Amino acid sequence: MDVVVQKFGGSSVADLECMQQVMAKVKQTLQQGSKIVVILSAMAGETDRLISLAKEWSKTPRPEEMDVLLTTGEQISVSLFSMLLNDNRIKARSLLGFQIPIHTDNSFGKARILDIDHEYLRNLFKKNDVLVVAGFQGCDVSRNLTTLGRGGSDTSAVALAAALQASVCEIYTDVDGVYTTDPNVCPQARKLSRIAYDEMLEMASMGAKVLQIRSVEFAKKYNVPVHVRSTFSDEPGTFLVQEDQEMESVLVSGIAYDKDQARITLVDVFDEPGVAASVFEPMAAAGIVVDMIVQNPSREGRTDITFTVHKGDLERARRIIEKIKDNLGARGLFTDTNVNKVSVIGVGMRNHSGVAAIAFKSLQAEDINILMISTSEIKISCLIEEKYTELAVRTLHEAFGLEKEPQVTGFSE
Ligand code: ASP
Ligand code: MG
Repeated sequence: MDVVVQKFGGSSVADLECMQQVMAKVKQTLQQGSKIVVILSAMAGETDRLISLAKEWSKTPRPEEMDVLLTTGEQISVSLFSMLLNDNRIKARSLLGFQIPIHTDNSFGKARILDIDHEYLRNLFKKNDVLVVAGFQGCDVSRNLTTLGRGGSDTSAVALAAALQASVCEIYTDVDGVYTTDPNVCPQARKLSRIAYDEMLEMASMGAKVLQIRSVEFAKKYNVPVHVRSTFSDEPGTFLVQEDQEMESVLVSGIAYDKDQARITLVDVFDEPGVAASVFEPMAAAGIVVDMIVQNPSREGRTDITFTVHKGDLERARRIIEKIKDNLGARGLFTDTNVNKVSVIGVGMRNHSGVAAIAFKSLQAEDINILMISTSEIKISCLIEEKYTELAVRTLHEAFGLEKEPQVTGFSE
């Protein structure tokens, strides 16, 4: 039995007309003889509406009750869509997370999927051609409803595809795929026909909000072929796949940017063992994610430590540092929110040299100063002044010739 998983986001189920388009997609796939699991999000804006309702009612809603509230969004979508299918003589039924069940841990609001009863689903396919499953939700062992974090329906879809060994997990959305960079910033951005899981993780963590990051991690772990495409066209979109030789032969696949960074500098702290630990331990304890870190000796026995955090965490981070900075001998503490990060991403960097040099040279040509640099195996990131972000993205995009389809040589050296 071939199973296809198709996930439709909030804008694809926003109203009756949109749902009819979704039904057309489902019908096409049924004609090919596959059984379908359809995962739906809440109708556009519904989850936000529910969150503001909760805020009106309570200053500190219990996370358990928040999840009971938020799961209703998807419940509306799956019941309405199943009615539509039934009226069109398609054998279908709706399923909420707890009915399957989709078991999760009990981190309310950001629960992780632990297992899915796929046998139960397979049995339901004896009487149904389409199972319409509510995304974004599950339940814990104590029968509490849980949600998977914003954008979590993507993860529901990939997890169900993995559990049912679906031939493909199609994520239908309002964009037609994954681009080399943000087309709003760079009109030359090109739709990628394929992207490696690792590249997508880097793109997603930089705010390319096409997929929930966790869904990509899941897809990578279980090798689920994911196809990101538009609900409103028949064009193929972008396939997320394991990297192969052809991808490695391409130097750079995309340029990402992150407008959420803030920089903190501790000036002239003691240059001795344990100083970095005493800065970053309390950050970790407070759940503050630190991204770039640079430390270099300033003068005899002293060093500067500069790092970046999420803008929203800056105040908390600053308060933590204020408390410890005197013990570390710091002579100054600076923070800066007028900074953004641009990144060059590509699995090809694993076996090509010179990518950093091209990137730095092209930024220099536009007189853009680099404030911090960090690299990983498949990414080079530069922190720059906020006002240059869009220019930097366009410049890097051009420097790596991303507007053109890459020339595949067949060699990966
Ligand atoms: N409805 C949820 C949200 O808006 C989950 C999803 O759409 O993926 O975040
Ligand atoms: Mg989404």
